[in-house]
Amino acid sequence: MICENQQELESYVAHARHWTQKGKVADYIPALAKANQAALAVSIYEPGKHCFSAGEVEHKFTLQSISKVLALAVALEDIGEEAVFEHIGMEPTGDPFNSIIKLETYKPSKPLNPMINAGALAVTSLIRGSNNHERLERLLHFIQDITNNSNVKVCEEVAQSEFDTSFLNRSMCYYMKQHNVISGDVEEILELYTKQCAVEVSCRDLARIGAVFAFDGKDPDTDRRIFPTNVARICKTFMVTCGMYNASGEFAIKVGIPAKSGVSGGIMCAVPGRIGIGIFSPALDEKGNSLAGMRLLEKMAKAYDLSMF
Ligand code: GLU
Repeated sequence: MICENQQELESYVAHARHWTQKGKVADYIPALAKANQAALAVSIYEPGKHCFSAGEVEHKFTLQSISKVLALAVALEDIGEEAVFEHIGMEPTGDPFNSIIKLETYKPSKPLNPMINAGALAVTSLIRGSNNHERLERLLHFIQDITNNSNVKVCEEVAQSEFDTSFLNRSMCYYMKQHNVISGDVEEILELYTKQCAVEVSCRDLARIGAVFAFDGKDPDTDRRIFPTNVARICKTFMVTCGMYNASGEFAIKVGIPAKSGVSGGIMCAVPGRIGIGIFSPALDEKGNSLAGMRLLEKMAKAYDLSMF
C-alpha cells in the first residue's frame, strides 16, 4: 500500500500549498488565465485499493500537453513505430516546449521529439480518420476508455481560445509542411490539436491514465489490454526524457518517475507496476511545470520511495 491514509496525503498538500502563490497561471491561451491560482489537488490510483485524493479534487482542467502522450499512443497504434519516427525524432531538446529553433538547425528538418509542440503537431497530423470529426472521436474514445469515464469531453471555450491565438503553432505547422514533415490541411491539424489539448479531466482521471501506463497499457483493475505494451514502453520513455519540458533531467533526479505535465497545471505520473498519480495546480514555474505540483511530487517521491532509479 502506497498511501496509508487520507490525512497523510492532506498534510502533504497543506505543506506544498504556499508554493501556489509563487507561480504564475498560463495566460498565453486567454481562457487558461481564468484558473484559480490557489488550487492544489492530488489523486493516487492504486489498483484494487481506494483512490486517495486530497485538495480541490472537484476542479476540472484541460489536458494541454498531457494529451501529447495520448495522441502519440493512438498514432503508434494507427501507423506503427517505424512510420511515426519517419516524421518525428526521439531526442530531448533542452529548449522550451514551444521553441521553433531546432526545426531549422537540426537536419533532417523534423521535430526532435513528440513532447514538444512541433513534434506533437506532427503526431496529431498522423492520427487516422476520414475527417477531423472522426479523428477527434477516436482520440476521445481512447481517452474515455483509459480514464474509464465516458463523460470526458472537450472544453470548447479553451479549444477556441487556443485556436484563435495559436500563431506560433501555426507557424511551426507551415514550416513543417514546407519541409514535408506534415501533409494535410494546417488549419484542420490545428483544430484537432487544440481540441485534443482542451480535453477536460479531473485529478482522478489523470491518476487513472497514469495507472494504465504504469501497468503497460492494461486496465489495472480488470487486466483488459487497452493498448500494446510496446506503445506504453515508448510513451513512458518519452515521459522520462522529455515529459517535464526542459526540466526533465532535474525531475528524473528529484522524483524519478515517468510523468507528463501541461500548461493548465496538470501532471500525470505512472509509477511502473505500482500506481498512477494525478496532480493539478495551475500556478506554473518559469519552465511551464506546476510549481506546487512539483514540490508535492518531490515530497511524495521521498515518502513513498517512488523513484524507479
Ligand atoms: N496547447 C498548448 C500549446 O500548444 C500545450 C502546451 C503545453 O501544455 O505544454 O501551447
